[in-house]
Amino acid sequence: MEEDLALNEANQARVAAVRRWCEDTVTLRLDAAPPPFAAGQFVRLGLPTKGRPLLRSYSMASAPGEPPEFLVERVPGGALSPRLCALNPGATLLWDPRPAGRFTLERVGSGESLWLVATGAGLAPFVSMLRSGEPWRRFRRVVLVHAVAHPGQLAYREELAALGAARGDGWASLARTGADATPEALAAALADGRLEAAAGAPLDARAQVLLCGDPRVLDAARAALEARGLRRNRPRAPGQITSEKYWA
Ligand SMILES: Cc1cc2nc3c(=O)[nH]c(=O)nc-3n(C[C@H](O)[C@H](O)[C@H](O)COP(=O)(O)OP(=O)(O)OC[C@H]3O[C@@H](n4cnc5c(N)ncnc54)[C@H](O)[C@@H]3O)c2cc1C
Repeated sequence: MEEDLALNEANQARVAAVRRWCEDTVTLRLDAAPPPFAAGQFVRLGLPTKGRPLLRSYSMASAPGEPPEFLVERVPGGALSPRLCALNPGATLLWDPRPAGRFTLERVGSGESLWLVATGAGLAPFVSMLRSGEPWRRFRRVVLVHAVAHPGQLAYREELAALGAARGDGWASLARTGADATPEALAAALADGRLEAAAGAPLDARAQVLLCGDPRVLDAARAALEARGLRRNRPRAPGQITSEKYWA
């Protein structure tokens, strides 16, 4: 559980718009000035509780400079996310707009293709990156893999398809749902070349892979990629696998 902040460290912001992709996945857009940040970074959102605010980390889904937007997945029984998912336009929430995190393209090395592999709301930092256009300035081909429990959670699908269509063969998007989205299924599809074949891009040392979301999927995917010769990207030992786990 993250530390609660004193109320005076968090600002109030009005919810300008809500897009409900399905019962448990929503986009919240705030009526607030965006902080300077790099696509892939996160800030903290929250709500007041008795005395102290309850704040959690959420990746920016908006591109830098655009009105702040977040993709929130409801965690059953969670303290904050069910309340965030129930907000309507006009509601007020708290946010600590100081950006944090190192899950940015600046820290990713060069390569031929960029793979963005997300589970659930782990799509958010990739939406920010894709909206910024940066992936295509750095890589010839960009592949998005979005794994979700059910199809209703495939947020931003039309917008991303339109962004990708403008890039011709520089873009491939693969959705995996239900039984195909489990850690085992995703790792198997990475290991045996099925995802490469579907994306038309090699998954070897010429690729850079960003993984975001469910730690069980990330661990399984990383093991499958390491078995293919890819290595973790560390500050002093650059590699091809960079990940952001949404929980421990
Ligand atoms: C760097 C970072 C960025 C994040 N960005 C986002 C984002 O853009 N969108 C988003 O929806 N969430 C994001 N998260 C997760 C978010 O911070 C909260 O953990 C999540 O919303 C649950 O909060 P809660 O108060 O409802 O649950 P809590 O009461 O804190 O606890 C519920 C427990 O559920 C687990 N859990 C957390 N998230 C999930 C999940 N998605 N599915 C299943 N179990 C989970 C954890 O073990 C947690 O301890 C991010 C987390 C990190 C660390």
